[in-house]
Amino acid sequence: MRNQLFIGGEFVDSVSGATIEVINPHDCSVITEVAEARADDVDRAVDAASAAFPAWRKLAAAERGRLLLKLADAIEAHGEELAQLESLDTGHPISDARKLDVPRTAACFRYFGGMADKLQGDVIPVEPGFLNYVQREPLGVVGQIVPWNFPLMFCSWKMGPALAAGNTVVLKPSELTPLSSLRLAELMTEVGFPAGVVNMVPGFGAGAGERLATHPDVAKIAFTGSTATGRRIVEYSASNLKRVQLELGGKGANIVFEDAIIPAAVGGSAFAIFHNQGQACIAGSRLLLHEKIADQFLERFVGLAKSIKLGNPLDPTTEMGPLTSPMHRDRVISYVKVAIDEGGEVITGGRAPDDPALANGCYIEPTIVRAKPGDRVCQEEVFGPFVTVSTFADDDEALAIANSTDYGLGGGLWTQNLSRAHRMAGAMRSGMIWVNSYKRVSPASPFGGTGLSGYGREMGFEAMREYTEAKSIWINVDAQIPPWYPR
Ligand code: NAD
Repeated sequence: MRNQLFIGGEFVDSVSGATIEVINPHDCSVITEVAEARADDVDRAVDAASAAFPAWRKLAAAERGRLLLKLADAIEAHGEELAQLESLDTGHPISDARKLDVPRTAACFRYFGGMADKLQGDVIPVEPGFLNYVQREPLGVVGQIVPWNFPLMFCSWKMGPALAAGNTVVLKPSELTPLSSLRLAELMTEVGFPAGVVNMVPGFGAGAGERLATHPDVAKIAFTGSTATGRRIVEYSASNLKRVQLELGGKGANIVFEDAIIPAAVGGSAFAIFHNQGQACIAGSRLLLHEKIADQFLERFVGLAKSIKLGNPLDPTTEMGPLTSPMHRDRVISYVKVAIDEGGEVITGGRAPDDPALANGCYIEPTIVRAKPGDRVCQEEVFGPFVTVSTFADDDEALAIANSTDYGLGGGLWTQNLSRAHRMAGAMRSGMIWVNSYKRVSPASPFGGTGLSGYGREMGFEAMREYTEAKSIWINVDAQIPPWYPR
């Protein structure tokens, strides 16, 4: 297990010698200690990335792509090891880590590996005698700050397009979950990424994160995390007017209409909120049920929630693991009281499971709470296996409730009426909508939000634009002074 900082192609201790304890959320035991990056370590990493930038941007795009493709292969070859690390560190059930986290990480690097040499410019039809072309150029050193909920996968979402486009990277993993990122750095070295192209600086937000976001030589910060931290990042960016891309919180509305196929909607809605213990920005955390089908839907949905098998994430039969940290578990549990204080009703869950084998871990039972759309639990991101249920009478009311939060990231619709599906999808204030499905993602499809969910898009061709800027070049074709010059 790698537990040092990765700077300039080498694993090194932090300047201060400080370390961070990495906790196994299954039983709160210490897995290992990892070097803690502080401001001077971030400075070293930015220097290494700056030094590597000129050669990396000049490397043939196909060659950058080839390294990303090799990395995707290496991730698959080490898939079981990466899945176990991710499961140990985050609490993801190992079956999810094997089926989703690792394959999606490889697929994302592979997509951007293929994209590297397809980033074309434009030729613009301007006045006669002039050729105007626009080429897309990398930004330089990019700082990337990621949270703890999908640490491995987010490395690919962030680094894939940045590297394909010719930028060099300093990535700060969350202080809670640095293990898979450090292993990834090692694999990158093994497949041949030049020293300094990627640097990993695990550390706290107030030390390493703030330095990266204020650093004068960092051209852009791509941030995934809470809305509160996102606001700070925008303030930090003012020092050198660096670009900012923000993937922030969400409060996804998941709407079940009276004509939905109920068994499909029940299963899909459970995945929407309980996958990864609800620790997903796009989680369907507000369930809106048409009043005609609310009772029959809830009976099945509550039954399914109660049957989910909680357990040690390394057990392949576990369906739901612990939350990723004790602090976060306490925060999620605190929302049960918030709900009750506002007149909400806990239909199931809202507490730690009885199983003594899980007593020291960060476990919470799948929790379903009946609440009014304006209640705090329906407006604030809880980020756990905690779903609110409200009812509606018609499409207009469903839409008004769906659009009643300040977030706008993901949302779901369950209906067999095609016109309704298109109408609602168009009217919902949300970066992504799933119809008769939830939480589908692909490296080829843009991902991101609006409102307090942030701005900018990851994945797809959009992401390549986010990591490049347009340069417009004018050629006077016959090299003569045009007749309309004064002399
Ligand atoms: P967080 O904002 O506390 O931390 C995210 C990252 O920012 C961590 O690496 C942290 O160390 C760093 N950080 C914290 N304070 C900082 C500061 N002052 N300066 C610079 N960096 C700082 O968020 P979290 O609790 O780790 O993650 C959960 C949040 O992430 C949720 O709100 C969730 O919705 C959001 N999220 C969004 C997306 C998306 O794509 N929209 C995806 C996953 C998670």
